[in-house]
Amino acid sequence: MNLGCCDCYDESSLKENISLRPGFKRHQLNKIQPSTRSIQSVDSSTTINYDFIHIRSIFQLILLIYRRLIYTSIRIYYNLINFIFRNSLVDQFRSNEPCTKEQEQAFYNYKFNDIPEHLKFNPFILEGYRSNLNFKQSLLSFFYLHNESTNIYSHAFAFLYFLIFMPKNLPWNIINKNYQCLFFALCHVFSTIAPWFGSTVYHLFMNHRNGQKIYNKLLAFDVLAIWITQSIGALLPVYMSVIDFNFTFKYFYMTLYVLLAIRSLYDVLIVGGRMRRRFGFSSLVFMRFVSIYLRTYSNKINNYDDLILQELYPIIGALVSAFRIPEIFSPGTFDLFLNSHNLMHFLVVLATFHLHSSAVTDLILLSNYV
Ligand SMILES: [Zn+2]
Repeated sequence: MNLGCCDCYDESSLKENISLRPGFKRHQLNKIQPSTRSIQSVDSSTTINYDFIHIRSIFQLILLIYRRLIYTSIRIYYNLINFIFRNSLVDQFRSNEPCTKEQEQAFYNYKFNDIPEHLKFNPFILEGYRSNLNFKQSLLSFFYLHNESTNIYSHAFAFLYFLIFMPKNLPWNIINKNYQCLFFALCHVFSTIAPWFGSTVYHLFMNHRNGQKIYNKLLAFDVLAIWITQSIGALLPVYMSVIDFNFTFKYFYMTLYVLLAIRSLYDVLIVGGRMRRRFGFSSLVFMRFVSIYLRTYSNKINNYDDLILQELYPIIGALVSAFRIPEIFSPGTFDLFLNSHNLMHFLVVLATFHLHSSAVTDLILLSNYV
């Protein structure tokens, strides 16, 4: 791409212009020629730099608009909160916290360096931290905007949505006819509600003043809730993938899945560690992909889109979270919205919609077997 003025460069007209200058001799033209070419090459390189600057400017403009939108939203949000609660929440925070005036104004906006070590897991989130809150303050922080708000809201609303609307969406008239369908339906309901509750509690109280001791308990609670979805929630799709196989293979396969689920619980809960937690469910995910493949051996109607997407979205979410995208490219810009953990939260909610859709199909299919 060349948008510079050297597109209009005409060598003969340039020579003519130079030769027309007073005192210029024709034989000097050849000496001039290499230097004019170097001008052209300099112009070309400058044009490429301009292109780069254009892209950078556009990116910076997008970031500027994004920041402006966020700051405007925050201002509107706080005006609204203050209008509704008339500073009663602020007073609540102030009552127990001896702190400086600056901290009083920004008790929900600590910087990365101000928070305890066990909360410093993302150095690209610079501001908006809560710290050293008691139970009531943590609970009330639900109404304030900080860098955990999007994580809390995304899973709190998912919890309410799945609790209220999802059970209504199940074909209970078919399910109630036999115990096997009822067992798998209840497993599905439990496992699609549990993770949102665990995650909301973890994110809401993670900044509690009791420090790492309570943080570890909250984290264990969150991980346990995720395990419920990964193991109990996947029982139905795994079972349906081998339902047409002979008795020995079917029960060997299900026993293997249960043993791997117990092993993964031990890894993520007892052994712990960030990497263990991140890859602790990989054996179950692998086995579920094998299950999707095994379905191709039967002639059942299989909802492959839902089965694949319910696995794919959390994998993308885990990768985005592991590589800290997008905040790694612009630290501090995504403190409140759209950081890697926020994106991961949205993707796992999306995956659960597909999990639910495939579960409805499987329950109807299962009812034909019993
Ligand atoms: Zn989370």
